[in-house]
Amino acid sequence: MNALDRRQLGKALFAAPALTAVADQLVAQKTNGLPPLTIRDAKVIKTSAGGRYRWVFLKLITSEAGLYGIGSANNAYQTEAVVAALEKHLIPWLIGKDANRIEDLWNSANYRTYWRYGPVNNNVLSAMDMALWDIKGKRAGMPVYEMLGGKVRDAVPCYDHQGGRDREEAVANVQKSMAAGWRHIRVQYGTGGYGGGGFIPAGQGERPEGGYGGQAFDEDLYLSTIPGVFEFVRSKVGPEPKLLHDVHSHLSGVNAVELSRRLNPYQLFFLEDVLAPEQIDWYRNIRKVCATPQAVGEVFSHPYETLPLVVERLIDFTRCRVAAIGGITAAKKLANLCEPFGVKTAFQEGGENDPVNQMAAYHVDISSPAFGIQEENHFPPLVHEMLPGCGEIRRGYLYGSGKPGLGLDIDESLAAKYPLDGTLPGGGAYTTDRTIDGAVVRP
Ligand code: MG
Repeated sequence: MNALDRRQLGKALFAAPALTAVADQLVAQKTNGLPPLTIRDAKVIKTSAGGRYRWVFLKLITSEAGLYGIGSANNAYQTEAVVAALEKHLIPWLIGKDANRIEDLWNSANYRTYWRYGPVNNNVLSAMDMALWDIKGKRAGMPVYEMLGGKVRDAVPCYDHQGGRDREEAVANVQKSMAAGWRHIRVQYGTGGYGGGGFIPAGQGERPEGGYGGQAFDEDLYLSTIPGVFEFVRSKVGPEPKLLHDVHSHLSGVNAVELSRRLNPYQLFFLEDVLAPEQIDWYRNIRKVCATPQAVGEVFSHPYETLPLVVERLIDFTRCRVAAIGGITAAKKLANLCEPFGVKTAFQEGGENDPVNQMAAYHVDISSPAFGIQEENHFPPLVHEMLPGCGEIRRGYLYGSGKPGLGLDIDESLAAKYPLDGTLPGGGAYTTDRTIDGAVVRP
């Protein structure tokens, strides 16, 4: 086309109102992005998903026909507080807002409560944030990880949960996991849950008159038991499996240092939460005496709890739960912070967690160079039916559905068949261990 032709086409375009309108629309799409999108409605979906769980999801419905997103506000211990925070406080504030502006909504929702980074509001933020990413991905026609920069790995390696009541059983169970394709295996020990190997049985030992009679955690017993377990397991399974162990904050300062030092010869992939969040300054002491990798922060909810540990390179893995820190936006920022310092992510799962949170973690995991490992979680067939597109773990790797957004949906009518009873036993409290004199042990 010569210059004369172009001028004539230009004149024709400007002379024809219909053509001009089309051109304006094209320019607007290229320069202003997609048409406005508002949050028209929202609902809280509670379900026990067959009786085992206390799940709370947020569904955000937009002004675009059929376009909605779902997010997880998982908090098994303050479930009804989260429900009220969503229904009474977040939703009335959120309706009518621009669904495109995830970062702005995250920040304004965070400061909306004035006091911030508390666990309940973080759950609320997480649910909103995941639902907004789900919406954005569906609108773009791509999985969320594509919007975070695309895959940097082919699938997400996970670690399995194993243990044994004695050393032989621990070895047999690790070997079962290895045969099922797991390369990373967490090994817990004894009976009694976290802290196992350190419990004085109920009713035994010298106790205060009329006092606590249940199983009692003893730091010295734990410290003298666990290294021997790993020595035995390692001697039987060889150097190949990557072994992990979770202390669940049961140790105090110098004992945490000493356990880390004693486990050094058995080459753990990581030792998890050897200290409670109130005692994190002790990680400096651990670094001075051994190279046992440290995974930290399952119960952290404030970013400044993690920050000094990362920038001083005092830990090796961050252990936050995505639904406890503010969703994909917060998790991606945490991963980005970790990357230049060589610290890795190991987002927490746990048996009470849900498939929406798992998929939120998956999208960050698969797109971040700072990824280290993902804790496994698996669900019964009913949950796969209730949340179609739910992630699947096969031979140690987590796979998403590859569908746009988070990649999973929720069947609300099926969820409603398994209601969540608001009157939880003991208010739904997390159970803490006690020492022989009846004092509480930090979880
Ligand atoms: Mg843990």
